[in-house]
Formats: sequence, structure tokens, C-alpha cells
Amino acid sequence: VTEAVLVAFARQFGGEPLVVASAAGRVNLIGEHTDYNGGEVLPIGIGRRIYVAVRPRTGGERRSRVVSADDPAVAGEFDADAPTRTGAWWDYIAGVACQLRAAHVDVPALDIAVWSDLPRGAGLSSSAALCVAATAALLAVAGHDWSPRDIALVAHRAEVDFVGVAVGIMDQFASAMARDGAALHVWCDTTATECVPFADAVLIVDTGVERTVRGSAYQERRAECQAALALLRLAHPELRTLAEAVPDQVVAAGLPETLHRRALHVAQETRRVHAAVAALRRGEPIAGALLAASHASLRDLYDCSTPELDWVVERAAAEPGVCGARLTGAGWGGCAIAIGDEDALADAAPALAADYEARFGRTARAWVTRAERGVRVDMGG
Ligand code: ADP
Ligand code: MG
Repeated sequence: VTEAVLVAFARQFGGEPLVVASAAGRVNLIGEHTDYNGGEVLPIGIGRRIYVAVRPRTGGERRSRVVSADDPAVAGEFDADAPTRTGAWWDYIAGVACQLRAAHVDVPALDIAVWSDLPRGAGLSSSAALCVAATAALLAVAGHDWSPRDIALVAHRAEVDFVGVAVGIMDQFASAMARDGAALHVWCDTTATECVPFADAVLIVDTGVERTVRGSAYQERRAECQAALALLRLAHPELRTLAEAVPDQVVAAGLPETLHRRALHVAQETRRVHAAVAALRRGEPIAGALLAASHASLRDLYDCSTPELDWVVERAAAEPGVCGARLTGAGWGGCAIAIGDEDALADAAPALAADYEARFGRTARAWVTRAERGVRVDMGG
């Protein structure tokens, strides 16, 4: 158990929590913008987590109190019997409470402290980690022991239905179901999953670029993909999802230029996921050429890279001992990853961050991780 969440809990509420649960952030190794197209993704859990410490309130209190140790420390409350959305950060926790109540789990009024070393809003899925850790903590308080998959599904409903963010299931699945030394291969249309061995180290570089256009651009891409699928179905009525289309079908369809590029990315990216998974199953690393092709496609066909991401990817990929690099997450800012030898990545990180700052005038955070386990009850339960 991290001491820090216990300290945060004691400082705000006094005494000790009954339960501490935590969940990992995630990076997607390959398979970008495929999730909402019914395709496949290949995330890992990372070594940065969110911890949620919880204790039932006594004395007939009917309001839950929440605090996050993050700077600036923010505390709030929500109605334990009828959580409502307020626009505050604790909507993610109130949403979990609401979903669990709907699933007939007894959720009492609680004191809840959150501590995290996972950057928020950087595309490492802090929102899903917060929901997953909160779900595990509230279930443990109620005496339930659910599977990581069921935890992920509740966390996903909290974010989609309560907070109101239309996201796919990748983030919650990775944050809950990831394993040490493995990548989680997810078929997003059926929600089937498989763990494949993944032993390499991953350098994560947060470009620190705010993703201001992200929400609207993301919705625009989703709409474009729907439009592309509708046109493809004129010739191929059997297509259930855009990810099912093969590149030849996309090319032959003669779609309008923008829709053509979006659909071609999705079709080719799906093939790259297959190739990456096949390599990992054989115990081989993911080929650097696959990572490079994924990045180029996101940059040129999907138009979701930035000059900062392009620079980091090019720079990292050129380092000795680095097998390949690409942007990860939705893009338009956020993080890039480089995969390779742990020592080589650790050696490259400081100079890369310094040169980035000199070039762009902003700070990049960079650290090396391995594939780590998703959800965990750290104390109590
Ligand atoms: P991402 O999931 O990529 O990190 P999101 O915008 O989806 O970015 O989620 C970030 C939001 O999650 C924050 O604005 C905040 O509401 C919530 N959040 C994440 N981490 C914390 C934390 N440690 N304490 C409080 N809220 C957090
Ligand atoms: Mg998120």
C-alpha cells in the first residue's frame, strides 16, 4: 500500500481507511482509433496508479465526502442515497456509487481519499483508473469480490452514463484486467480478451500539450467513420463494423477523400494489431516498422498527431536500442511511447526531455515502465 493515500486520508478525515484499492493507468501499444470502430486494441497497464481509500461514515450520515491529494487539494460531497452529477472531479466516484446501487450493491455514506501518481488529462486514462479503483474499493467495503471484467464494466458505465463521456471499453478493461508482463488484446466488438506476453520496457513521453480540440475532433472522427461505414455497406452489406473492412475494400470503394483516409487507417491499423499480437505470441518483440507505420497513419490519414508528438516519435525511434515509437491514445496532444531495451530507454529519456524543452518551450515528462497489473485491493476487503 502506498503510504501517501493513508496520509491523505488521515489528514482529511482522521484515522485509517477500511479499504484501499488501486488501478493502473494504461498505454495502448497499437490499435489506435479502432475501439469505436469495432476493432482490436492492445493496451498494457503502466506503473502509475490511482489509489482510493474508503471508510464508511458513522452516525447516520447520508453524505459521502471526497478529497483528492492532488494539487490543488479539492474536497467535496455527494448524496450517498441519490448521487447526482455536478461537473466536479468526484462525478467519477459518484457515478460508480450510482452504478453499484443500480446493481443492488449496498453503498453506504463514505469518506473517500484519492491519491495518484498518474498524470491526469494526459491520455493515460486517469479517468478510467479513478473509476476502476473506486469500483473495487466500494465493492470491497460492501463485501463483494467481483472479477476485473465486471469491475471494468461498472466503471465504464459510470464514465459513459453518469459522467457523460462517450468512450470505448479499452481504458476500463486495461485499467482493471491488465496483468504483469502481458499486454491485453481486446476485441472491442465482442469484448473478448486475451493476455499476450509482453516483456519489453516502454518509455512514456507526455508532451504536455493541452488537448483543447480533442473532444470535438474526436467526435468528428467518430462521425466520419460512421459515414464511411455507411458508404462501404452499399457494396458490402455484410460489414458489421468499419474494422471488418479490409484495405482492398476501402480502396475499391472510392470514398470521398477524407472518409477514404479515415477508413483506410482503421482497416490497416487492424492488420497491424494482428501482426503485433502474432509476434508477441511467438515471443518476439513488436516490429518497429509496425509502430512507425501506425504513427505515420495517425499523422497522415487520421490527422490526429501534433508537431510535438511527431518530433518525440522521430527522436525516440532514432535512439540505439529503441525498437520503435508512436503516439498513443487519441492524439491531438498527450503522450507518445517508445518500446525497447529498458536501459536504452532510461538513458535516452533525460536528453530527449531536455531537447524537447529547448525545441518547444514546454516541459515533457518522460519515464520508463513495464506492463503492470490493473486493479488490486491493497488493504482490507
Ligand atoms: P485522462 O483519462 O486521459 O487522464 P480525462 O479527461 O478523461 O483524461 O480524465 C481526467 C479527469 O479525471 C480529471 O479532470 C479529473 O476529473 C479526474 N481525475 C483523474 N485523476 C484524478 C485525481 N488524482 N484526483 C481527482 N480527480 C482525478
Ligand atoms: Mg479518460
